[in-house]
Amino acid sequence: MYLRELAIPLEKIKIKGIGSASIGALTKAGIHTVEALLRRYPRDWEDRSRIVPLRDYSRQQVCTTVKVLAHDWFGFGRMRTLKVHVEDESGRAVLVCFQRPFLEKQLIPGKQYRLWGNFSFKYGEIQATAFEVEPCDSSGSFFGKILPVYPLSAGLSQSLLRRFVRHVLDQYASGIESEIPEAIIQRDGLLPKSEAINAIHFPASQTELEAARKTLIYEELFFLEVMVGKRALERRSGQLSGGQLPVAVMGDSDFSPLQKRLIERLPFSLTAGQKEAAAEINRDMNGQWPMARLLQGDVGSGKTLVSFLAALLSIEQGGQAAIMAPTELLARQHAENAARLLEPIGVRPAFLTGNIKAAGRSQLLKRLASGDIDMVIGTHALFSKDVVYKNLRLVVVDEQHRFGVTQRQAITAKGDHPDLLMMSATPIPRTLAFTVFGDLDVSVIRDLPPGRKPVKTHLTKQSNENKVYDFIRKELAAGRQAYFVYPLIEAGDSYLKDAETMAENLGKKIFPQYKTALIHSRLDDEQKRQTMEAFRSGGIRILTATSVVEVGVDVPNASCMVICHAERFGLSALHQLRGRVGRGADQSYCFLIYSEPPPDPADIFSGGLSEDGKTRLKVMLENNDGFVIAEEDLKLRGPGQIAGTEQSGFLSLGIADPLRDIKVLEQARTDAFTMLENDPGLLQPEHLRVAAAIGPDGSFAGGQRVLV
Ligand code: ADP
Ligand code: MG
Repeated sequence: MYLRELAIPLEKIKIKGIGSASIGALTKAGIHTVEALLRRYPRDWEDRSRIVPLRDYSRQQVCTTVKVLAHDWFGFGRMRTLKVHVEDESGRAVLVCFQRPFLEKQLIPGKQYRLWGNFSFKYGEIQATAFEVEPCDSSGSFFGKILPVYPLSAGLSQSLLRRFVRHVLDQYASGIESEIPEAIIQRDGLLPKSEAINAIHFPASQTELEAARKTLIYEELFFLEVMVGKRALERRSGQLSGGQLPVAVMGDSDFSPLQKRLIERLPFSLTAGQKEAAAEINRDMNGQWPMARLLQGDVGSGKTLVSFLAALLSIEQGGQAAIMAPTELLARQHAENAARLLEPIGVRPAFLTGNIKAAGRSQLLKRLASGDIDMVIGTHALFSKDVVYKNLRLVVVDEQHRFGVTQRQAITAKGDHPDLLMMSATPIPRTLAFTVFGDLDVSVIRDLPPGRKPVKTHLTKQSNENKVYDFIRKELAAGRQAYFVYPLIEAGDSYLKDAETMAENLGKKIFPQYKTALIHSRLDDEQKRQTMEAFRSGGIRILTATSVVEVGVDVPNASCMVICHAERFGLSALHQLRGRVGRGADQSYCFLIYSEPPPDPADIFSGGLSEDGKTRLKVMLENNDGFVIAEEDLKLRGPGQIAGTEQSGFLSLGIADPLRDIKVLEQARTDAFTMLENDPGLLQPEHLRVAAAIGPDGSFAGGQRVLV
């Protein structure tokens, strides 16, 4: 049987001493079945197979056999604490038994025990407060072994998990079959799945542990790449989006007539990166297969315009284009740009969000269904049930990392294999793009429109914020505008500043001569629209905001971005926020104001900036390039956390790390793609187990779901 078939509920497993409370704690941690329990891989292992005598306490955890010498006590009453003096061949030490007076009866002077613990030199002796002991003759001992260390959550303990997993392994492990092709297991010297799963939890030696890790890492990456490969094949076999014009229309300049009309009307010329991306998109859209392209370009590189060019091509060919943005604010901005740029050349754009009211909406939907609208721009509303397109030929997903897989699928399902263009300013590091978007074509805009000066970034302590205000005052006097971003919408009981209070302060006290406004996600859309409009037109000079202004907002006259409590924001948010300025010809500035959180009385080690917080600020100070920042983000947070991969369910890897395991990944990719090319239906006997693992609908049948 396969591991994924062990869907046996944990309540069915009876183990002495493990009751419903423990099962409840496991369930809470998302572990409902035997399969899930066995997939709860250890985060580390403790090697108790090697003796580490007391003498070596300062270098590693002690693992030795000791004789109990004597007991003594310190403290009074309920605080009375037992001290047990022990010795091994290398020296003597003391076990301080906080809250464990019962050890008096268990640790009998003169007898031998196995001891495992963390010792340090304190009060003139070698002491341990965290230790485990057991009589030398106990059965089922964990000593002499390499032990798993599991990630814990409330109500779970290492010993509970160890016992539970051990029991389940004894019952089921031997029957678990491998899912990867036998030939690969042989070729790479991998372990059969039954041995790998046993050894990842309870390895007999370091060598066996390594082999188990290698096997399971390969397996995860292999299936990941099988999924990527399958999608690539499906897309290649997808239908043509019908009636395309031959490449001949492209002419010398690579642009279609309608595209040329737009380009001629622009007050600037396209950057080299934009031209190149547009040409690649044109080639795809005129090509054999539906396009699936990811357009990456740093904030401000002008991706919107490239997507408009793509839309023009599909419209010219008789189709409709849909541009989907994650926020109403951004969708509206795109719609306004479309109206301004495209209506004059005869395109009929429309704007659709969840807030468009009944009458207007039904009118709009009718026109969309009849083909009277060429291009619709909006939010998630674009794939609502009642939205019908006449001939949806291009789907653009802006800020694609903000959308989940199912949402992207829902919008493309509105057409018959439409071309898909995904855009992101949060660049996915190359290494990860390779894994996750393995079947996508990628265009990258590397340059920014000419005349842009890199944003100057300053790091300021909160106590010096007046200097920042003085600076901003000068910028305002010179006619510029500024954003102030706060981590909270309204005042709470934390030390953090909030947008509401600060909007008051900025407007009334700090910059009374300038018009200020507040924007955050809880305002209604009409209010947001008016505020943005007033900020764009310059009526409002200072916009106090939360991270709602993070994506897409484009107001070239704004030259200052002040981010308060910058230490609280993630790297990608900081980069996006900074990208709101530097969009015009003026020098722009970003101020990262940080404050050291006060210590929490309950935790003497708290307070001050966290190490990660410091690193993030440093990265922002030293880098302007979104790709570099994304790579740093990846290092700090790990691949599972990268914007657009986790919440979209891109990766759900338990043990593999595509960055660390890049070599294995490349091998797995070659293996998976070769297999699929030779046997697309996975019908050959040696591939049947692979076919069974990915299930009939192409998603994993087992717990390791990789939905891309
Ligand atoms: P992003 O890639 O971050 O989505 P936008 O599409 O919002 O960038 O473009 C940022 C700004 O740059 C917009 O104001 C846009 O009009 C302007 N822009 C786009 N392309 C060019 C260009 N080739 N030259 C000058 N300005 C440009
Ligand atoms: Mg954009």
